[in-house]
This record gives sequence, C-alpha cells and structure tokens, in this order.
Amino acid sequence: MKVFKFGGASIKNPQAVRNMLDIVKSHSGEPLLIVVSAMGKTTNALEKILNLACDQEDFTPELEKLYNYHKGIIDDLLSKPAKDPHPYLSSKVEEINQLLAGISDGTYDQLYDQVICQGELISSTIISDFFQQQDLPCQWLDARKYICTDSTFREGKIDWTATSKKIKEQVEPLVKEHIIITQGFIGSDIQNNPTTLGREGSDFSAAIFCSCLEADSLTIWKDVEGVLSADPKLEQQVVKYQYLSYQEAAEMTYYGASVIHPKTIKPLALKGIPLYVRSFEDPKKPGTKIFEVDHQKLPPALIHKFDQSLVSFRVKDFSFINEDNLSLIFHTLNQLNIKINMMQNSAISFSVCIDHHEHQIEQLEGRLDQDFEILYNRHLHLITIKNYDQPTIDRCIKGKEILLEQKTRSHFQALISN
Ligand code: ASP
Ligand code: MG
Repeated sequence: MKVFKFGGASIKNPQAVRNMLDIVKSHSGEPLLIVVSAMGKTTNALEKILNLACDQEDFTPELEKLYNYHKGIIDDLLSKPAKDPHPYLSSKVEEINQLLAGISDGTYDQLYDQVICQGELISSTIISDFFQQQDLPCQWLDARKYICTDSTFREGKIDWTATSKKIKEQVEPLVKEHIIITQGFIGSDIQNNPTTLGREGSDFSAAIFCSCLEADSLTIWKDVEGVLSADPKLEQQVVKYQYLSYQEAAEMTYYGASVIHPKTIKPLALKGIPLYVRSFEDPKKPGTKIFEVDHQKLPPALIHKFDQSLVSFRVKDFSFINEDNLSLIFHTLNQLNIKINMMQNSAISFSVCIDHHEHQIEQLEGRLDQDFEILYNRHLHLITIKNYDQPTIDRCIKGKEILLEQKTRSHFQALISN
C-alpha cells in the first residue's frame, strides 16, 4: 500500500489535475491512499477572506473570486456537472458565508479552522468526482473523521491512539478495495470541531495516514525534482540530493527548508517508512529518497527564511539575565505558540529570532513588558547553511550587515538586515 500527497501547486488548474490523474492511473494497480491540499493558493485566499470579515470589511468580492476559480476548474474538468454551478461548491461557499456572518461566536482560531478547512474539502471533492468520471473508481473520505486532535485550533496536536485506531479499523479495509481520496491539513477535536494542523500541514497528514496504515512508502509530488540544496528561485547553483537520511531531512525542515513540512519525517522514521519527494511535472524521474541511510558529508544546503524579527528582552534593573528570566520568556513563547528560529544570550539581554506575525508580537509585548524592556528589529533575513563550507559562507554573507551569527560543527546561521 502506498500513500501519495499532492500539494496545492500540483492541482492548481485543470491541466495539473489531469496530470495528477495520469500519475495516479499509472499506479492504480496497487492499494493507494491520496492526500490532497487545497487548490493553488486557496488557503491564502481563505485567510484573506476571514481577515476581511474580522475587520468588518467587505469580503464578498474575494469570496466570489475564489468561487469562480473553483467553478472554472469544475467546468473544465467535469463533463457533466450535476448542475451549474456545482452544488457542492455552492453549498461550501454558502457555509463560509454563514460562518463569517456569525463571526462573534467562538475565538478567531476556532473560526479560522472552520473556514480554512473548506479549501481541502472542495479540492478533494472536485478531484474525486473527476476521477470517477474518468473511470477511475475512488472513494472520498472526510479526513476530519479520522485525524483526531486536541482543541489547539490552527495547530491541532494529534491524538495518536484515537487516530491510529480509527484509521486501522475504518480506513484500512477501504484502501484495499478502492483508491481513497482524502484531505491533508484537517482533523477534528473530540467535540467534532474542525481543526487544522498548521500551514502546509498536508505532508504531515499524509505521514500520519502512512504511519497508521503501515504503508510501504509515502510519495510527495512536488513542483521540484526532489529535495534540492537550495531554492532554485533564489540560487543559481543547486544540486538535487539523490537520497537523505531521516535525520538530515528532518534537520533541513527544522531550519526552514520548505520542501517538506517539519512534522512529516518523525512518524515515517519511527516506522521505517521511506519518503520519496518527486516531480509531478516529470514523474519518471526518481526524485529524492529519504530513509534510514548513512551518507558521507553532503553538499551544503542553503536555507533562507525571510520576514524575520529579532526580539530582544532586556532586564530593566541592572541585574543580569538569569534562569528565572529565561524560564519566563520561554514559558510565554510556548504559550503563544511562537517558535524560535535562533537565539542568543548576553549579560543583560536575551534575543530571539522569530517569524514575524504582528499579532503574536503584540501579545508577547503585552505579557512581558512589565518585566523587560523589549526591542525589535524587523524585516530581517535568516540564512542557514547546513553542512557548510567556507566558500559558501563567504558567498552568502558578502556585503551583508549581520546582526547575529552562529556556527556549530554542522551548520552556520546568520541573521542579516539587508
Ligand atoms: N492548504 C494548506 C496550506 O496551504 C495545507 C497544505 O497545503 O499543506 O497551508
Ligand atoms: Mg501547500
């Protein structure tokens, strides 16, 4: 049994979905579970719609745009949509409208998950209808019924025992009979409230299904040839890794290599399930295989993270930063779900580099400005070089103003302001 994951880019238009069908057809002789993301940039569009609604602004033009985008894909792919417009799409858009009308109920994060999960529900429905019409029998499943999480909206924590039981008991028998099409990124809590697993979380969903089904492999179909040493949009010289160890791949994702979601590797590594990252544009190419393997030193991997903020906490009373202060800072960061990308301690201040999210920084300030003087630098760029060599470091930092720099035996990081 195999699990495939197709992300937004691989299903962003009718031609891409037809290409997906070809890939799936060439593997349709074996049990297959397929996890899909929302189409194209749908999740970003839904976030925008939600934020407009929360700011009491008119979101209808954006929602209409999203409706028309999907309708265009449906009209092209489905020869005889049951009705025009596709009733499922209309009902989902109506659902979003109603959710946004009742915006005062529940918290922002809870509402976020109710609205944002619609993208995956719509894409998976269109794709399964299309496959059926193309004589590829498949079964659509609502992932929210099987991926059980706690109620941490927007970043649901998996209840592995419940999830595993449901997938084993209810999904496994179905995969043996049909190709299964389900959604990435979404689950539900014990009260059946929809939850999401964090942006780009579909890879993680695919790994969860894989682990619970003890599948033979996971293949993530991407718009790149495999795992590359750098983003080809940013760097001229890139190499593709033919294979990587779980450890190496996990560390790359930790530093921000966006090719795979950071939570994907662990469930696979624990069960020894290989992960293939392959090109949906060139499906004959082997891509990158990630598995338990020893390798020699790899060519340097260059990872860029933009829109970073450096937040410094300074003690106010001429005392030093001590373990008490640090524990308060870490505790608050953890409560606010803020992830540290780099940190540094000095006598009177402690600095963290984090992804810039205005509302998180405001919350952080609100909680800690009694205890510390808080200073910021914004619009920064974090470069990580894994398995660095000196020429690569020199090339990357040439002419740059460096605010923080760190080096271990395996990686180099610099936070730069231009
Ligand atoms: N559609 C979601 C997102 O864009 C999940 C995913 O693509 O993995 O974040
Ligand atoms: Mg995506």
